[in-house]
Amino acid sequence: MTEPVFLVGARGCGKTTVGKALAEAMGSRFVDTDRWLTETTGMTVAEMVARDGWPGFRRREGEALAAVTAPGLVVATGGGMVLAEANRQYMRERGTVIYLKAPAHILAHRLEAFPEEGQRPTLTGRPIADEIVEILHAREALYHQAAHHVIDAARAPQSVVADILAALPVARAS
Ligand code: ADP
Ligand code: MG
Repeated sequence: MTEPVFLVGARGCGKTTVGKALAEAMGSRFVDTDRWLTETTGMTVAEMVARDGWPGFRRREGEALAAVTAPGLVVATGGGMVLAEANRQYMRERGTVIYLKAPAHILAHRLEAFPEEGQRPTLTGRPIADEIVEILHAREALYHQAAHHVIDAARAPQSVVADILAALPVARAS
């Protein structure tokens, strides 16, 4: 049995894009905790936040993590998954945690070019580039704390996948 791989990082770093490609390369299944939540609740992230606030959404996020985690899985986590210490610890203990790291201007460019489906509400109501700088500043240390490996996510998706495979324990990358 192989341990799950958890991808963490800010919105736009490629958790979904790279996660799917990584799962394919590994012959693993892929799960996105945001998508799992929207499917099981029948609500968009925006609707969950409108109903229960961000704290309620964060709680559901932790529940999603525990519900989806299984061997042989690539898990793309929500950008705020690392905020809870319990989530960081859970991921570190059960699998390999990869931080997909990219500079704020690249994240902003990607999100401006491809506004996310599901229209996730902004956290601050401010322009996306400003918000990303602020969020990275607040979370950077937590992404590092959670991660076993930090991978340059500014590269092309296939390069990012190759770098992750090289970083994973041998049994999993073979
Ligand atoms: P996340 O799930 O981390 O929020 P996504 O995988 O949804 O990020 O990617 C956000 C946007 O950036 C998408 O439009 C995607 O096509 C693009 N993208 C993701 N990774 C890369 C990459 N390594 N290089 C270029 N564009 C990327
Ligand atoms: Mg995603």
